[in-house]
Amino acid sequence: MEATAELPPPRLLGRYSYPTSHRVIELVAVVLFYGFGAVFAWRTLGSLITTLDVATLAAALGAGLLALVVADFASGLVHALCDNLGSVDTPLVGQKFIRSFREHHTDPLDMTRGDFVRVNADNHLVCLPFLIPAVLWMDVASHPFLAPFLLALMVFVVMTNQVHKWAHVAEPPAAVRWLQAHKLVLSPEHHRVHHTPPYDSHYCITSGITNPFLTRIGFWPVLMRTCRWLGRFVGGSPAAGHSQGPGA
Ligand SMILES: [Zn+2]
Ligand SMILES: [Zn+2]
Repeated sequence: MEATAELPPPRLLGRYSYPTSHRVIELVAVVLFYGFGAVFAWRTLGSLITTLDVATLAAALGAGLLALVVADFASGLVHALCDNLGSVDTPLVGQKFIRSFREHHTDPLDMTRGDFVRVNADNHLVCLPFLIPAVLWMDVASHPFLAPFLLALMVFVVMTNQVHKWAHVAEPPAAVRWLQAHKLVLSPEHHRVHHTPPYDSHYCITSGITNPFLTRIGFWPVLMRTCRWLGRFVGGSPAAGHSQGPGA
């Protein structure tokens, strides 16, 4: 799949085709994330280095692995809900979150034409309600599992959309191709299943590590039925070509 050269128009704050007010929110979210994130990472890693015993390092490693699984599952859950519940007119989340998932199914390569802020800012934004309280009130030395878990979780969440974009890019960087080939991040082959009829699985887009398990236990059909039921109350219709579409 080749990306076309149809870049968004140049504007005051970069290339984007949505209201400047959205762009300002995105830029503020990115700046806040890296400001607070640097403080939290410094404290968490500093605490690990200061303690440096086997039990603490084992807890941190376990927390990192759990964060990888949780981030991947969360990416799939949010993705499936945005694809199948509500619409772009849904209050609060319609324009900011559901819209990008719906447009992605209409034009999967559109995100490859977006700059870093457009592709990744939303994921920075969703981390802030967890990151800012953690910086303000968490004593990381007293939480040798929770602090590394939160740090790793936010790293995985923030990289999710970029990883998703790379799965659609014709020629990602060599290092990314290596990560894709070793299934450490979402690979184009794995993600292609989601964009192939019947469009009813492989929603997880961080690494895809949880997709086979969720498919095996029949998680997605249950979630789709739940979305259909909830759809009676919140309105809207699923993304084009999805499992709740015509004939579902
Ligand atoms: Zn989707
Ligand atoms: Zn995709």
